[in-house]
Amino acid sequence: MTRRIIVIGAGPAGTLLSCYLARRGFQVDVYERRPDPRLLDEDESRSINLGLSARGIKALDDLGLMETLRPLVVPMRGRAIHLPGGALPFQPYGAHEGEILHSVLRRDLITTLVDHAEAQPGVRFHFGHRLVELDREAAAVRLVTGEDEEVTAAGDAVIGADGVFSRVRAHMQRGLRADFHQEFLEWGYKELTIPAADDGSPRTRLEALHVWPGEDALIVAHPNRDNSLTGTLFLPFERFDEITDPERFLAERFPDTRELMLYLAKEFAEHPVGHLVSVRTSVWHHRDRVALIGDACHAVYPFYGQGMNSALEDCTVLDRCLGDHPDDLGAAFAAYQRLRKPHTDVLDELSKQNFVELRDRLRSPLHLARKKVDLL
Ligand code: FAD
Repeated sequence: MTRRIIVIGAGPAGTLLSCYLARRGFQVDVYERRPDPRLLDEDESRSINLGLSARGIKALDDLGLMETLRPLVVPMRGRAIHLPGGALPFQPYGAHEGEILHSVLRRDLITTLVDHAEAQPGVRFHFGHRLVELDREAAAVRLVTGEDEEVTAAGDAVIGADGVFSRVRAHMQRGLRADFHQEFLEWGYKELTIPAADDGSPRTRLEALHVWPGEDALIVAHPNRDNSLTGTLFLPFERFDEITDPERFLAERFPDTRELMLYLAKEFAEHPVGHLVSVRTSVWHHRDRVALIGDACHAVYPFYGQGMNSALEDCTVLDRCLGDHPDDLGAAFAAYQRLRKPHTDVLDELSKQNFVELRDRLRSPLHLARKKVDLL
């Protein structure tokens, strides 16, 4: 009999996992609280861009998806470091030729994965459905739609791919002996655009990850296909409220942002400040009924650019464990946690260390003398 898996959350982890589960012959129902990203216009679905690395690419490649995505990504061949005096040194990535990162819009990635998953037999997406309750013994969920209607569903297992503030995790661990450690960084972030020039060309080197290092403010920018770049300004939380003249503030610390970030004042006023959260937890599953994947079980600070990549990598490991234990979901979930958790714990540490490297050390002569930047 065909087994049915309910996936909560259609982010990178939930959408890729649905493709893997379909290949193993499961019937898959994915419930996502947000609307279908394919039906939103550009403004409604303003999308962040993410750095895709070898781990994420491998997870996509195993299903032949990287070929579909390739026209939608911009390669980042190294790190361009913006120094106060105007110098812009470039450090190529990787010990091996061709080792690079790719910048991809979250919307493009998700849309590609949803299209692929939906084309497989047995996969259905239910957008605009928010999980409100989980019965972990019955693998049953209660959801509420955008029209406030209640929907219930049950399967052989529920997978929580619902991100750092996972409801599935909260319901699964309630009353059990479970460890849970959540940290908020004392810095937040805001997105700021570097638009393309009037003739459509990029205003700065396109195929690079741009970094403006600084002890009390840090900017990282990824390129987009339209020759713009999306910058992320990281600052201590209280500084966001104190800054009354963002153009002056940034021009003093990072002089070249004046000619690059044309909508700075408007975007600074309008864009929300995001939180940066890390999560470590155990256990990742409840018997053969519930399991967690992606940020729901291991969220990291974004300074290594590996959160999504490791969420994608989870899918390949869980898929392998399902293959090793074809008739025992509980054994597959336990093996998946055993194999994955040591890696994601290390990634948590590295992501915290890289915050200090980008912020404090990148401007040092020792770091600037480096010929290559190692990738994870
Ligand atoms: P999410 O992307 O959070 O997706 C969870 C999904 O579940 C969402 O669609 C949400 O709407 C849905 N959901 C939540 N609750 C419910 C509910 N109750 N019912 C139904 N659906 C629900 N990672 C990288 O690898 N590279 C980068 O360059 C990078 N840059 C980053 C920059 C910033 C500023 C930040 C904050 C993060 C960055 N990350 C990066 C991390 C990356 O965004 C996350 O690790 C990744 O999105 C995790 O994917 P996920 O599918 O596990 O969770």
